[in-house]
Amino acid sequence: MRHPLIAGNWKMHGLRAHAQRLAAEVASGVPAPQAVEVAICPPFVHLADAAASLAGSAVALGAQNVAPEAEGAHTGEVSAAMLADVGCRFVIVGHSERRQHYGDDDALVARRFRQAREAGLVPILCVGETLAEREADATATVVARQVDAVFAAVGANGFGDAVIAYEPVWAIGTGRTATPEQAQTVHAALRDRLAGHLGEAAAGVRLLYGGSMKPDNAAALLSMPDVDGGLIGGASLKAEDFLAICRAA
Ligand code: PEP
Repeated sequence: MRHPLIAGNWKMHGLRAHAQRLAAEVASGVPAPQAVEVAICPPFVHLADAAASLAGSAVALGAQNVAPEAEGAHTGEVSAAMLADVGCRFVIVGHSERRQHYGDDDALVARRFRQAREAGLVPILCVGETLAEREADATATVVARQVDAVFAAVGANGFGDAVIAYEPVWAIGTGRTATPEQAQTVHAALRDRLAGHLGEAAAGVRLLYGGSMKPDNAAALLSMPDVDGGLIGGASLKAEDFLAICRAA
């Protein structure tokens, strides 16, 4: 019922030639639609090149962030309409690196989410707890708060086909991965929370896991009933690894 999604978050890595090559390698690995949807999220400046490299393949394009306003005097920002115009289908909002280092609080993330939806993009809403929050047994409370903030801003009708990525902060870029059981527990709690907002439609929302997902742990994580794909950081920078994860889904 849920079409799994594997999305690569390239973060701030790679110059133009690298982006073109990596996008082309992923595209040639996914020439036609598969049982798994595949997307890459390069840095803004590489989106147009990546779109050209992906043309004719089944790989979708995504961005890593989006302005919280539609247009205007917002120096340095990139609007949702611009992302859609360059060929994006997805955009990551609320990644923990933005929440931790760039002041993206729940309210700002919700504004970014709203802009994405209004431009017809599919937001990939990142949620997740820090290590201190996990140790304080606050994981469910934290991810519920992060999800609720978006519903408070856009309402149930505004959620659309958005995707949620559960990314425990302590697992991102650390080589430390949530166990499949830990991921499943949080995903099940998220789906319950979504049911409170969306009713039966919560069963159709794709919930991705992110945090040091690699070829050797992907299959176990993706075998969990509520893990509907992955948001992949480090391992998305090598086509071979990224495509291996796509195959594991
Ligand atoms: C991410 O940045 O979304 C991520 C999951 O990174 P990594 O796979 O490197 O932990």
